[in-house]
Amino acid sequence: MVSRARAARLKPLLDAVADDRPWADRVRFDPVEFPHRYEAPRDVEVVALLSASLAYGRADLFKPKIESVLEKLGARPAARLKALEVSQLAGLLDGFVYRFNLPADVGVLLMGMGACLRTHGSLEATFLEARRTSPDYRAALSTFARTVRDAAPRAEIVRALGPTRGLDHLLPVGDGAAKRLSLYLRWMVRGPDAIDFGIWTLVKPAELVIPLDTHIARLSTFLGLTTRQTRGWAMAEEITASLRQLAPDDPVRYDFSLCHFGMSGACPARPVEASCRRCPLKAECRVGRKLVRR
Ligand code: SF4
Repeated sequence: MVSRARAARLKPLLDAVADDRPWADRVRFDPVEFPHRYEAPRDVEVVALLSASLAYGRADLFKPKIESVLEKLGARPAARLKALEVSQLAGLLDGFVYRFNLPADVGVLLMGMGACLRTHGSLEATFLEARRTSPDYRAALSTFARTVRDAAPRAEIVRALGPTRGLDHLLPVGDGAAKRLSLYLRWMVRGPDAIDFGIWTLVKPAELVIPLDTHIARLSTFLGLTTRQTRGWAMAEEITASLRQLAPDDPVRYDFSLCHFGMSGACPARPVEASCRRCPLKAECRVGRKLVRR
């Protein structure tokens, strides 16, 4: 975790990156663009969970897959999922295959969300129940994923669509970094602003843990937000603890801008002197300082 002195130096730099760049324009490059097409909170939360769960690999490959399911779910996806029957899944998921995931995996997610809506009224209430019965935040993420999975009639889905393959990847229940579940929570809890929705008002932004992707891990290492070498939940927690020193009530406010700072090429995967020279973070970046000094 960063020292207080270092946090004080980092804060104006990261605030400038978060506030001054036109990050809202980058929503169209991000899976968060899908839930932004809906207004009703119940529609937003189900579309967001589908989108975050499938947001792995290349955006140009996973986005058409999400798009194809959403098209078939129609304008009121929450109502559609609440009434969805296993016999309708084949039409909904016709031809769906994306990397680790087969139609039955997504069938479990869709039917599970529908069942949770019927039982708890919302995915927020489903998460709150998971948190109430879990010892900590990480366990609550797992319990939430397991609740959605277990709510679906899996045997019936497998009979209709064939075997599942990547459920553990789609809705992870272990103790890994849980990047996409953390991303989902950020979308639901933070805000509202141009990116995040802030529709889950009973979870506090201060509780969130940063979704740890390759860009966040790399930039956080460069900026000294973590000293860990291995990407996982412990690294995500350490980065969040560092950011909490900068913004105690909203530590993951830096996530979207830092992630897109990397994704957009502003900080390339292999940093070069030219990008470091114009980088607003160079004063506190160990890689940038070295490259610019040469
Ligand atoms: S100074 Fe260079 S390496 Fe550091 S964050 Fe900026 S672009 Fe990346």
